[in-house]
Amino acid sequence: MKQYRLPIIMLAIFEAVAISLWLTKDNIFYLFNFSYIGLSISFGVFLFIKKYKHARRIVQLLVGLYMLIYLGLICQENMQIEGFWYYLFTGVFEAATIHYAVAKIFGPLIFGRGWCGYACWTAMVLDFLPYKVPQEPRRKIGWIRYITFAVSLIFVSALFLAKVGNIERIMFWAFIIGNIVYYAVGIALAFAFKDNRAFCKYICPITVFLKPMSYFSVIRIKCDKDKCVSCGKCKQVCPMNVDVTDNSRKRLNGTECILCNECVRNCPKKAL
Ligand code: SF4
Ligand code: SF4
Ligand code: SF4
Repeated sequence: MKQYRLPIIMLAIFEAVAISLWLTKDNIFYLFNFSYIGLSISFGVFLFIKKYKHARRIVQLLVGLYMLIYLGLICQENMQIEGFWYYLFTGVFEAATIHYAVAKIFGPLIFGRGWCGYACWTAMVLDFLPYKVPQEPRRKIGWIRYITFAVSLIFVSALFLAKVGNIERIMFWAFIIGNIVYYAVGIALAFAFKDNRAFCKYICPITVFLKPMSYFSVIRIKCDKDKCVSCGKCKQVCPMNVDVTDNSRKRLNGTECILCNECVRNCPKKAL
């Protein structure tokens, strides 16, 4: 039973969030929503413990498709960053604001960028592309993320300042068009830079929240220096170029770790 402790803890955390929000918001949707996400993630961790090769991909599809198709297209909730600004400006602590608080702002203090490894619907598609391991050195163009972040904020602010009518409808279309643009740019960059996660490294505006918060993450991959033989295999397979054998929080690209566990699976000495 001991080996199943982690999926049980994960499920318990999500159930606690689900029940708290259900009762405080008096909305049963939260019970369904967070229970489903918690069950999907716990199921993935269970498959991982069973050493099932595609465990992470299963979780990505279960959570990513649910958020993209059910929440985004059917319920018409804009869960992208502009949706977050929209709900924030209207003072509504619902949908996108709760999603951002849990997955992208406060949650990363506990589970780092687990969102990026297991739930993001953009990466869900990008991870199917052929360059799972980057084929070229990392570029120094991460500053682009601050531009996309500012553009999203200016876009929504301008709608409010100009007192544009029916912003909710605009948000729905912004979600559709935004996703098409993200997928197009993400796929093009992956092929141009021979790196599936190029979009995550240089363009994604959400990393402006994710990177500083995940610096303090409780859950981290650590290296047992007594077992490590410095073979370098872990760094070769890392999709995010993390210097994972350095245990300090300041390790190179440390705030990029998506907890995918590729390094752990490939370490010949089980040092991670
Ligand atoms: S960096 Fe952005 S696009 Fe990439 S997985 Fe994270 S949230 Fe998704
Ligand atoms: S793969 Fe394992 S043994 Fe090799 S450098 Fe990484 S941690 Fe050390
Ligand atoms: S391979 Fe290891 S260090 Fe790299 S992102 Fe995945 S879990 Fe993090």
